[in-house]
Amino acid sequence: MRTLLTILLVAATGLGLLFFGRRVLKGVEPARTVPVLTPSPKPLDLTPNPNPTPGVPEPEGSAAADLRAEILDWNQQALDALDRGEILRAMELLQRCVEANPDDPVLARNLALARLRQAGLMIDSADLEERVAALELVENVLDALEGDEREAVAARIERWRARADHEGSFFSSGNRRFELSYDGEQQGLRASETDLLDRLDKAYQEFGERLGAFPLEGNRLRVVLYSPEAFTRLTGLGHWAGGAFDGTIRVPIRTGGIDSRLDSVLRHELTHAFVARLGGGSTPAWLNEGLAQFLEERQVSSLRLKAAKLSCRGAPWPSLTSLGTNFSTLGDETAIRRAYAISLGFTAYLADNYGEELVLDLMRAGATGSSPEVVFRRQIGFDLGAAWEDMRQNWLQH
Ligand SMILES: [Zn+2]
Repeated sequence: MRTLLTILLVAATGLGLLFFGRRVLKGVEPARTVPVLTPSPKPLDLTPNPNPTPGVPEPEGSAAADLRAEILDWNQQALDALDRGEILRAMELLQRCVEANPDDPVLARNLALARLRQAGLMIDSADLEERVAALELVENVLDALEGDEREAVAARIERWRARADHEGSFFSSGNRRFELSYDGEQQGLRASETDLLDRLDKAYQEFGERLGAFPLEGNRLRVVLYSPEAFTRLTGLGHWAGGAFDGTIRVPIRTGGIDSRLDSVLRHELTHAFVARLGGGSTPAWLNEGLAQFLEERQVSSLRLKAAKLSCRGAPWPSLTSLGTNFSTLGDETAIRRAYAISLGFTAYLADNYGEELVLDLMRAGATGSSPEVVFRRQIGFDLGAAWEDMRQNWLQH
């Protein structure tokens, strides 16, 4: 019995189920962890422009025309480099373009977006210097942007700054896989540090063995603990959220005593980190959230699946496609709750009928440029949609 543990996970259910009747509900209540937030490495939906503003036509062969052609070529090379994920190379080429033609707004915007993309990769680094460098990198990017695009980027950078400010005085500790950050003044956290890292390590080892990959080696993952108030403010998520993963695992923790569900929240978010690193960035939400819930415990209990099924009773059956994108777009909390329940149900159904390995192969499909549908058809011999329909019949009958 670990008497030192005095952390209490924040009340994480919108219906207040966490505290009263917790014993009864343990393992039944679907984790109220939130959908994966927009992964930071993605440059929002901003695409650099391939066509710098044409300048005044110059007589062919003139020095200015030669330079213009060269700039166009550098710009194109930069866009190609971005496509290949070579962001530093793209930044170097675009920097050259902007130095040669400082007045071209398209070139300035392209450089700004490349910097934003690079900063997005660095902002979740376990290395504090990298995170500081990320903020420096985006210092002037807003100058090159306009309108809605400027607003969206400003909001994103503001969120990064607010987190950095808040976490500036945080304690940090860690091992070769995780960097744990938390408010050292918060009661109980320092005493629980080793225990938390231990829990993360255990889950990591288990997942690594089950998934056949250990993606954090040489690439540590940040885990940040917040007070419930700070979590809400810094993530913009409701008080009901149990945790979030956006490149960093973020968990709200309340002082007072450790909650029995902390393990499942850490396991849930850690699954998202595995999926982010192994799934090729295109894993559909139903599979990402389904797997994250499936792995919250070593084995999903039949009681929990029953509760998931019950929560969907009488509700319209969604299409698998409609569950492909972030659940937060589904609208009300009931719809989101059902989306989680049905995703867990389908993941468990697939694992039960075709094996856990098949589910993991579906998750890894994106990394090879394929999709869950293609992998399922190739391995099982019929459409994933037919399995979805079969589960629907099953859920309606029982
Ligand atoms: Zn989740």
